[in-house]
Amino acid sequence: MAICGSCGAAYAAKVLSDGRIQPIGIGSCDCGSEDFKPVDE
Ligand SMILES: [Zn+2]
Repeated sequence: MAICGSCGAAYAAKVLSDGRIQPIGIGSCDCGSEDFKPVDE
């Protein structure tokens, strides 16, 4: 899971090989942010 760093919306996500968090199926949050933070399930 990951949460948007701007609005806090939660998404299913995966961690990329470079360590960034990529929400599955979307490119950015509904609020427009692309800053996601990992959270424990
Ligand atoms: Zn957001």
